[in-house]
Amino acid sequence: MDLTREEQNKIFILSAPSGTGKNTVITRLLEFRQDLSYSISTTTRPPRGTEKNGVEYYFVDKEDFLAGINNGDFLEYAPVLDRFYGTQKSEIRRILGMGKMVIMDIDIQGSFQLKEKYPGVHNLFLVPPSLEILRERLVRRKTETPEQIEKRMELAKKEMEFRERFEKIFVNEKLESTVLSLSAYIDQTQKLPA
Ligand code: 5GP
Repeated sequence: MDLTREEQNKIFILSAPSGTGKNTVITRLLEFRQDLSYSISTTTRPPRGTEKNGVEYYFVDKEDFLAGINNGDFLEYAPVLDRFYGTQKSEIRRILGMGKMVIMDIDIQGSFQLKEKYPGVHNLFLVPPSLEILRERLVRRKTETPEQIEKRMELAKKEMEFRERFEKIFVNEKLESTVLSLSAYIDQTQKLPA
């Protein structure tokens, strides 16, 4: 997929260890920025809680996902905790075609894949104030079993080691200030030449 430098400049990838509050940050940001649109990923994991197909994710089975890979449908994809997650090229075209900027919530493998291929995209990292706070949030969320929480904590520790490779890091201390900093950062990137 060809993306011009201007198009790359309109793509923001937010990665974060699971439980950092990334979904809440993105939801809040989308509430007051009409110029941004969320890239809906495709996954083989089952829906969680109230999640609906075509809203949080496109939920597909493994067979369909692998067929998509063979077709070259994905801009990037990665296995995360034994499941596949990926961004379809058509999703990015749909959003850019509406004249909007794209916000993507993808894991760090996918983020680095895209940054390498398209250096003009913005790979951002959201971190929790501490790993202890992260564990508390995962426990409070009640969507994972204790074993899954341990797996996610292990993954979070590994992911934090890559923080220096991101263009910009945001510490999610207070929701509103995180959202405002992120929004201000987006504005700043649009003022500079792509
Ligand atoms: P969850 O199961 O909690 O919704 O997501 C697990 C992880 O998968 C998160 O780190 C999330 O960022 C990542 N993820 C979601 N969509 C994509 C995607 O399209 N591509 C990649 N590489 N990772 C994704």
